[in-house]
Amino acid sequence: MTSQKSQKGPIVSSASTQDYVSEEGTLQHKIAVLVLVVSPLVGLVYALYTLWGDRATWLDVALLIGGWQLTGLGVTIGFHRMLTHDGFKAKWYVKAFFLALGSMAFEGAAAIWKAIHTIHHKYSDKEGDPHSPLQGFWYAHMWWLFTGPTPAERRYARTFMSKDPMLAFFSKTFPLWCVVSLVVPFLIGGISGYWGNTHAWSWGSAWQAFVWGGLVRVGLTNHATWSVNSVCHTWGSRMFITSDRSMNNWIVALFSAGEGWHHNHHRFPRSPRHGLAWYQFDPSWIVIWCMSKVGLVWGLEETLPNWRSEVLS
Ligand SMILES: [Zn+2]
Ligand SMILES: [Zn+2]
Repeated sequence: MTSQKSQKGPIVSSASTQDYVSEEGTLQHKIAVLVLVVSPLVGLVYALYTLWGDRATWLDVALLIGGWQLTGLGVTIGFHRMLTHDGFKAKWYVKAFFLALGSMAFEGAAAIWKAIHTIHHKYSDKEGDPHSPLQGFWYAHMWWLFTGPTPAERRYARTFMSKDPMLAFFSKTFPLWCVVSLVVPFLIGGISGYWGNTHAWSWGSAWQAFVWGGLVRVGLTNHATWSVNSVCHTWGSRMFITSDRSMNNWIVALFSAGEGWHHNHHRFPRSPRHGLAWYQFDPSWIVIWCMSKVGLVWGLEETLPNWRSEVLS
């Protein structure tokens, strides 16, 4: 069992007033975030229209759900529980696999994701938190995206990359992975035409798959993650004493592969298991546990907490 100290200790220990410094995002950054927020909504309207018109296929639905779950696990297992919190050790190819998937989620390069989340844990619901609902629910959900990245986040990211060559590689090639995540469903959709009536490449199916498995999938994954920042610091239940406003929310957990057990996570940040009680469904933990059984990941015994004695009555 791990000590209380290792669960509570900040990932970056040196507190700095520079962490509080915020700055307006560049126009280029704001336009990129605007496209990120708006294009999935446009895609969703088109996707619902094709559903109504009976043009959507089961392949489109499968690409949406499959892409959402896979890139979501890239974020929850790869970016969050492995990279940011060091909850377990992994074979190099397992680490690469999940960092690649996480990079396809359009949630920023891995190093900046780790930097922002590290600062969130350091100043949870206090001055310096990049996305606290104390600044407004919608600010915590997505308006905060328009302001960054801050100088402190960039400084943290550079430090992380200097110590981890694989992290540096995936962070520097982040745009490439975003493109790959859109091209893959497009190609699968187009190739599916060979099994259809025309037995040829289908531009219509390629476009459909791009909208469902690309645009709508990005929106679904992002809103699931953003809900952890907004909903899980606003509504839900608490099991432990923590100095922040973090909550457990089972609905968010369902949509975010278990990340909705966010209050548990704030109390035991290094734990790779967020759904601690048997009824707290945590798919990311199930995947990590299965990988540990075949030797792909290890070190869980050092980070799993002895949580039962701390549960509030
Ligand atoms: Zn939080
Ligand atoms: Zn965390």
